[in-house]
Amino acid sequence: MQVYLDHNATTPVDPRVLEAMLPYYRDKYGNASTLYALGREARVAIDNARERIAELIHASPQEIYFTSGGTESDNTALKGVAFANRERGNHLITSQIEHSAVLDTCRYLENHGFEVTYLPVDRFGKVSTEALLKAITDRTLLISIMHANNEIGTIQPIKEMGAIARERKIYFHTDTVQTFGKLPIDVKQMNIDLLSVSAHKIYGPKGIGALYVRKGVKMDPLLHGGEQERKRRAGTENVPAIVGFGKAVELAKKQMEEETRHLTKLRDQLFEGIQAKVDGITLNGHPTDRLPGTLNISVRHVKGEALLLQLDRKGIFISTGSACASGSIEPSHVLLALGLPEAEARNSLRFSLGRENTEEDIAYVLTVFPEVVKKLREVSALT
Ligand code: PLP
Repeated sequence: MQVYLDHNATTPVDPRVLEAMLPYYRDKYGNASTLYALGREARVAIDNARERIAELIHASPQEIYFTSGGTESDNTALKGVAFANRERGNHLITSQIEHSAVLDTCRYLENHGFEVTYLPVDRFGKVSTEALLKAITDRTLLISIMHANNEIGTIQPIKEMGAIARERKIYFHTDTVQTFGKLPIDVKQMNIDLLSVSAHKIYGPKGIGALYVRKGVKMDPLLHGGEQERKRRAGTENVPAIVGFGKAVELAKKQMEEETRHLTKLRDQLFEGIQAKVDGITLNGHPTDRLPGTLNISVRHVKGEALLLQLDRKGIFISTGSACASGSIEPSHVLLALGLPEAEARNSLRFSLGRENTEEDIAYVLTVFPEVVKKLREVSALT
C-alpha cells in the first residue's frame, strides 16, 4: 500500500488538469506573441487561465502576472517593490516563520542597503498585530506576511494586517502558496497589494505560478527581455502549464468547501488516532486556526528523520518540515520560532493530506505508525 501524505510539498497533477494541458504540447503549440491563428489560440488560452485566477481572489485579470512559481513570485514582489520604491524608505517587515523564498530574499535585500524586521510568533505560530504596529517606522515601505505556514499550517490575521498597512500607505504582500484554492481570499477586502501563488500545491503542474500586483503598485521586473506579461515578466509563456494552472483553479474553486470538510475530518481522525495509540505526542501549530489538511506533531524520544525513513519503507510518505529544507539536518526555523527546544523540533513530522486521501489511508497509517514508534523508542532506549 502507498499513502501520500506530503501535499504541502507538492500534489499529484489531477488527471483533468493533465488532459487540459496535453493539446497545448501536441497541436496547439503556438507562441502566444505571434499574430497567426496558432499564436492567437495560445493567447486566448492564457487569458482564460488568467481570468480564472483573478476571479478566485477577486482581482482583475490585468493584475495577474504568470511566473515560474511561488519562489519567483515572492522574489519579484519583495525585490521588485523594494528597488522601485527606494525613495519611500528602506525598511521591510516580515515574520520569522516565512518560507525561505521570502526569508532569503529579505537577507539579500539586507545586503543591498535595506533593513528588515523579522517579527516573532507566539507558541501557536501567530504573528501579533500589536507587534506589527510597533515595528512600523516612517521608513517602512513593505510588509510581507504569509497567509498560512507550510510546516505547521497556522493561519495569520491577514485582513487586519492588510488594513494596518493600507492605512499607513505601506505596501502589503502575502505568500498564499499554501492557501490559494483552499481558503477564501479577497484581495480587496483584505487590502492586499501583492500576493504569491503556485500551481503545484493545488493539483496543477510544477514550475508555474502567479503574482497578483494591485493596479498602481510601483514594481521593477525581475526578468528583462521580451514584452510578455505587460513587460513585468519577460520570457515566452509556458502555455501548457498556464492552461493546467487555470484548470486546477477551476477545480479547486468548485471543490473548496467539500475538500475542507474532507481534509479536516481525515486530519482529526489521524490526530485522535495517533494520540490514542501513542504517548508523548504534542501538536505543533494552532489548534483551530490551521490549514485543514496539515498536522505537525512532535513524538517524544523519536527523531523525525528516523520516523520518515521507517514510514517510507511501509509506503507512507511524509515530511519532517519544509521540503525545501530537506537534506539539511538543521531543525526547522519555524518550530524554533514557536519556542520548541531543539530536541523537540528535531522530533517533529508533518502529515499534509490531500484530495485523494481516504479513510483507508488513515487506518493504514494508524496501524503502522504506533509499531514504528515503538520500535524506534526501543532502539533509542538501548542507545
Ligand atoms: N511559499 C510557500 C509558503 C511554500 O510552501 C512554497 C513551496 O513549498 C513556496 C513558497 C515556493 O513555491 P514554489 O515551489 O512554487 O517555488
